[in-house]
Amino acid sequence: MKAKASEPALRLRDIVKTFGKVEVLRGIDLEVGRGEFVVFVGPSGCGKSTLLRIIAGLDDQTSGTIEIGGRRVDGVEPARRGIAMVFQSYALYPHLTVGGNMGLALRQEGMRKAEIDGRVSKAAGLLQLAHLLERRPAELSGGQRQRVAIGRAIVRDPELFLFDEPLSNLDAALRVNTRIEIARLHRELGASMIYVTHDQIEAMTLADRIVVLNGGIVEQVGRPIDLYNKPANLFVAGFIGSPK
Ligand code: ADP
Ligand code: MG
Repeated sequence: MKAKASEPALRLRDIVKTFGKVEVLRGIDLEVGRGEFVVFVGPSGCGKSTLLRIIAGLDDQTSGTIEIGGRRVDGVEPARRGIAMVFQSYALYPHLTVGGNMGLALRQEGMRKAEIDGRVSKAAGLLQLAHLLERRPAELSGGQRQRVAIGRAIVRDPELFLFDEPLSNLDAALRVNTRIEIARLHRELGASMIYVTHDQIEAMTLADRIVVLNGGIVEQVGRPIDLYNKPANLFVAGFIGSPK
């Protein structure tokens, strides 16, 4: 079901998550606008992946509500939330070709072959993978594999893309290239994206808005320039102001 155009891509209200006695997310409120590129940053263990998994429906929140495109998705299975997630470990199926990997989820949903082929070929064009569609993952470089993983998300035409540290397994040069590629895709697709990283440079260069998380709460939300110039507190100042 497609969302209403007037509604934000994502609305989180008071998301809390506890594992046993540990409160990992302590009341997260956030709206992500249509077409917006929002980056979650924060130290390791602050709850970034947990929040992304909850938005994706891979894990349930303890309390709070989630709307995607104005539609409540609490209890809705991941495949029906209108999202597509790209992980740091891209887990391609070794026995399938690039094209087979990209179209798999659509085949499982019962989409017609002609429609799948059209979507795969369009995504492959966007990602410069058109000449590699018949290859197997083992015959690709790390960067090419990560592009296939992104292609797998694009073919689903999601309301919202979720990226969890997608570049952290790539070497430095490739990280920069892939980052530029993701920025270009965001422009060309006009899609809403949430991107998790602990890398300040990625956050500053990609984000329309940055959400700084720390210990399960939002420390500050704002445009990169505003966080840089007017950090709300010492934590934000230290995090945004001192790239590694
Ligand atoms: P980040 O992605 O920001 O590094 P995570 O969201 O992965 O952080 O983890 C946040 C906290 O929740 C960590 O302390 C982690 O140990 C804990 N945590 C994550 N998943 C689980 C789980 N399934 N069971 C128990 N604790 C978890
Ligand atoms: Mg994480």
